[in-house]
Amino acid sequence: MAITTLMFERSMGHDRGMLKQVRELADLARRIARNGRPAWEDGSVRQTIAQFEAEAEALRYTGYRQLTRQLKGLPPGSESSMLKLGGTELALRIALFAMELLGPYSALEAASPFALDAGKWTQRMLAARGPTIYTGTNQIQHNIIGERVLGLPKG
Ligand SMILES: Cc1cc2nc3c(=O)[nH]c(=O)nc-3n(C[C@H](O)[C@H](O)[C@H](O)COP(=O)(O)OP(=O)(O)OC[C@H]3O[C@@H](n4cnc5c(N)ncnc54)[C@H](O)[C@@H]3O)c2cc1C
Repeated sequence: MAITTLMFERSMGHDRGMLKQVRELADLARRIARNGRPAWEDGSVRQTIAQFEAEAEALRYTGYRQLTRQLKGLPPGSESSMLKLGGTELALRIALFAMELLGPYSALEAASPFALDAGKWTQRMLAARGPTIYTGTNQIQHNIIGERVLGLPKG
């Protein structure tokens, strides 16, 4: 009962909003300058954002697999650990990359008139570490995936 309860807890919502965040990041990259040109013109910036988009799409489809299980009346499966691990790590990497793009602007709080996007990227970065810890730390999710999905030995 305890394990099933925890699986429900960690299955909730970690894939939500990731695609929107990736598109907002692309929009930020078009508006912010890097070496005197829009950051978007830097191929490595576009490649990083494209990687985020691919991972966000993969999470979306994993979320649909989870939904299918629920519609069939089954408890959450290993998808819940994958969604928790993938979603929280992606959110953290997106937030840290936004800090890189923002450079010194990343230090500005929401109240500052010079904060880009009303300081939301800095807020996201500060909020993104907690989810990698709660509902079972990400190291624990690695253990679960290793043991239950990949069939690796315990310990
Ligand atoms: C923002 C936030 C909100 C929270 N909200 C709630 C809440 O609403 N309700 C609630 O009950 N709790 C809540 N928590 C607590 C949270 O569930 C625990 O912090 C979390 O489960 C980790 O437990 P711990 O802090 O005791 O770390 P520990 O279990 O002591 O872990 C310490 C470190 O060791 C690692 N570790 C531990 N065991 C293993 C292992 N077997 N293999 C590999 N690595 C391991 C962990 O990954 C971690 O890095 C919240 C925590 C945070 C940060």
